Amino acid sequence: MLLEPVIGLEVHVQLLTRTKMFCACVSDSSGGEPNTRVCPVCLGLPGVLPVVNKRAVQFTVMTGLALNSTIASDTKFDRKNYPYPDLMKGYQISQFDIPIASGGWLELDSGNRLGITRVHMEEDTARLIHRVDDATGKGFSLVDVNRSGIPLMEIVGDPDISSADDAREYLTKLRSIVQYLGVSTGNMEEGSFRCDANISLKIDGQMSDQRVEVKNMNSFRAVHGALEYEIQRQTEVLEKGQRIVQETRGWIEDQGITVSQRSKEEAHDYRYFPEPDLPPLVVDPIWVEDIRSKLPELPENRRKRFQEEYDLSEYDANQLVATKASADFFEDSLSTRGDKQSIESAIAKSTANWINTDLAHLLNDAGVNIENSPISPASLSEMLAFIEDGTISSKMAKDLFEEMFHTEKGAKVIIEAKGLNQISDDDALAEFVSGVIAENSKAVDDYRNGKETAVKFLVGQVMRVTRGQANPQKATEAVLSQLDRDV
Ligand SMILES: [Zn+2]
Repeated sequence: MLLEPVIGLEVHVQLLTRTKMFCACVSDSSGGEPNTRVCPVCLGLPGVLPVVNKRAVQFTVMTGLALNSTIASDTKFDRKNYPYPDLMKGYQISQFDIPIASGGWLELDSGNRLGITRVHMEEDTARLIHRVDDATGKGFSLVDVNRSGIPLMEIVGDPDISSADDAREYLTKLRSIVQYLGVSTGNMEEGSFRCDANISLKIDGQMSDQRVEVKNMNSFRAVHGALEYEIQRQTEVLEKGQRIVQETRGWIEDQGITVSQRSKEEAHDYRYFPEPDLPPLVVDPIWVEDIRSKLPELPENRRKRFQEEYDLSEYDANQLVATKASADFFEDSLSTRGDKQSIESAIAKSTANWINTDLAHLLNDAGVNIENSPISPASLSEMLAFIEDGTISSKMAKDLFEEMFHTEKGAKVIIEAKGLNQISDDDALAEFVSGVIAENSKAVDDYRNGKETAVKFLVGQVMRVTRGQANPQKATEAVLSQLDRDV
């Protein structure tokens, strides 16, 4: 029995508009006292009329274009009816049969293209906060309506993903696209980029109709873990000759498992119908072309440009463009070194390396985004220049960089305060000394023949190659120890 995973992803993206989808309330779910960013429209009071946020339409068109989708010139909104405490009106305004964008694709590093089914607009629901009453021990829920009505874009992918790795790459690239477009923060932990997955296994090439939907995944790692788990679980069920139960399952992060939440039999009939309070939406093709002509540089193009302009490897370039912020950090850092044409590829390469490794590790350990890096792009350049001119060794730079990160002081300040501009680092000095010894065999022979002054000459050579930055006493010790060891 040949089993192959079939995965389709649905992503909800909160749009970075100033106001909500259908009213003028501030659209920012990250802050504000509960229920202060509300009005009769997003509270769902009777007798009010929604008005479409043009910026939200523009952002969705931008995303559709970036995903190579076709933009509908005539589209509309529909009511999706279901009763739930987080849905103030008892229905959600969404798009059903005519999404604003349909078709398209997103390309993986392998060159494989994953299909986009559709991109449509809708509104977010209120946030439910679940609490337990201290006195009675009973659970209760609070409703914060600030999130209700925040513009959402739903991106539905074709069910053509066949591994957890590809699913993660698709999501990473999708998030990077919305960030580059500036249409969303793409923050998964804060819920502005949310993913649900549909997964089934093909049996000997036959599609199964028993799909499982997985929810509650709040990071790329969670999506990857949940999909791996589901592939394994469904494989075991099928290999035992049993059937997969069609249901919705939730990912339990700390246990690394999915559990059944509800069966599909309980699934709602949404009773979609065209939203009577909004006229059909006509999207002018001239406006769409104008938006297309003003699209910012997308990650894929930026990667290619980094490879061409700075001679970076595909791997390094990919790492940098994975988030717009790290790609910006890289270019901001290089911009302090002069104009693009004059930048040597070795400098670009080392800048990329420091961002992708040392800075990435420090940021990761501190749980800080690169946008808030304590080391600025200019400060990284300054430090790299000290390595290039031999003021410090690259090994010393590692410690220096950590200190810069934790103290937020510049390289120059720390180097001067600590006297680091003398090369007293043993390993770095030993490298210079062995170079000098290898190049001066006559002086070495002289020393071995009893001419003690040869040591002075060799130390002089070490001072020359280090441009006077070696610690003389340490240099003498290092020369003597290598001469004695090499006898
Ligand atoms: Zn409102």
